[in-house]
Amino acid sequence: MNHQFTPELSIIIPLYNEEKVFRKLTERIDNMLNTLNFEVEVVLIDDGSLDQTASLIREKCLSDSKYQGILLSRNHGHQLALTAGLAHSLGSKAVMVMDGDLQDPPELVIDFYNKFKEGYDVVYAVRRNRKENIFKRIAYWSYYRLQKSVSNFAIPIDSGDFGLMSRRVVDQLVKMPEQSRYLRGMRSWVGYKQIGIEYSETADRMENLTIVSNN
Ligand code: UDP
Ligand code: MG
Repeated sequence: MNHQFTPELSIIIPLYNEEKVFRKLTERIDNMLNTLNFEVEVVLIDDGSLDQTASLIREKCLSDSKYQGILLSRNHGHQLALTAGLAHSLGSKAVMVMDGDLQDPPELVIDFYNKFKEGYDVVYAVRRNRKENIFKRIAYWSYYRLQKSVSNFAIPIDSGDFGLMSRRVVDQLVKMPEQSRYLRGMRSWVGYKQIGIEYSETADRMENLTIVSNN
């Protein structure tokens, strides 16, 4: 990692065998970044990919100083890859977490950031129309409802890791010693002002999307 500036916002993206979407992903991120007027770093984490993902990350970081790469020693899984990204993020105000398979539209980053600036420490995305098959959708649906029934603090229903956290929330998460990490639950546990915004995978802005909860 070779930082030449202090970013206000970090965007953390774990990647496992994402060579097919890599160029599309960075192209969409770059277009989005061009519309912002503050400093942003993009932290790409290669989670021990077996394809060309790591060399694509290396190449991108060498040609664009906004990009930072973390290459994990082997496949550690999505949650640990995210944790590595959070631990190395320098965003002074906030950190955005998103998937690298284009299921989380990069164009929405500014909408999360605007909500953060309204005073929320956590702005999490709530998926509206999952593209997964019916069995996976039923599994997710049941899982989130079961989880809600057994935990003693609220974990938002239908939300993934896609979302933004303030610097103080990220610092808390990085300090937590849990070995088996479940970020969306830990994020919810930390507290502060949290809000969910609903999105669809095909959205390119949040304009017509709804605020779904406010605790
Ligand atoms: N991912 C990762 N390590 C893994 C599996 C996935 O870093 O072992 C990344 C993957 O490249 C993607 C994100 O984590 O950017 C979410 O993974 P996936 O799309 O498989 O999860 P789902 O969409 O099913 O929740
Ligand atoms: Mg996915």
